[in-house]
Amino acid sequence: MKLYVVGLGPGDQADMTVRALGALAESELIVGYEGYIRLIQDRFPGKQFLSTPMRQEVDRCRTALQEAASGKTVSMVCSGDAGIYGMAGLLYQLAEEYPPVWIQVIPGITAACSGAALLGAPLANDFVTISLSDLLTPWETIERRLRAAAAGDFCLAIYNPASHGRPDTLQRACDILLETYSPKTPAGVVQNVGRDGEGYLVMTLEELREFPADMLTTAFVGNSTTQIIAGRMVTPRGYQRA
Ligand code: SAH
Repeated sequence: MKLYVVGLGPGDQADMTVRALGALAESELIVGYEGYIRLIQDRFPGKQFLSTPMRQEVDRCRTALQEAASGKTVSMVCSGDAGIYGMAGLLYQLAEEYPPVWIQVIPGITAACSGAALLGAPLANDFVTISLSDLLTPWETIERRLRAAAAGDFCLAIYNPASHGRPDTLQRACDILLETYSPKTPAGVVQNVGRDGEGYLVMTLEELREFPADMLTTAFVGNSTTQIIAGRMVTPRGYQRA
């Protein structure tokens, strides 16, 4: 009867919350994309796991709801935070078609936070997150939001900078930001945070335009005040240092 929607954080168990681990321990069944199930399988050997391939999100949510409605305690796992480009909203939408299930979202560390921590402090003033995936948002809307972010001098955390069909999305997004931001604006990328191959790179916006991002990359762009200090990307909080 219970369905936890659990954000696992970037990947490392040290970055999962005590609440997330508690929800998984309490669950009989853990449902999720196979890549995320792999992250936790070893820690919970006694559980029933149900993994589904990448794109089958609706099926995955339906399975979780059906199993919870049949009386099980179920966790549906997502990377980062389940409510940030994750499954939490879809679950609530689909839940209306099922007998009442008690749903609780357990927050996790989203890529903007875990990535920012690696890069330094790029998001210490106002920022926006934008996903470049046009599977769920039309590309025209993404462009409009990028221009609005640049007009507001926001720092950006850019999710889904590469998708299978479109190798040039990050380049196109940078071109829009470059209409307003200086090419020397500090920028950065993080890859595979909390997983094998973790890395980060501090660069400029014009260099970010050329960066070969993959699906496990999050890109960051500073605003007009962002600096590079000792190789890290730092946005001042806004006041002068004492
Ligand atoms: N719910 C997730 C986001 C899912 S969208 C969260 O809150 O973090 C998928 C995008 O998230 C990826 O394309 C990438 O931009 C980012 N991302 C997720 N996990 C990541 C990780 N471990 N390292 C770097 N980027 C990550």
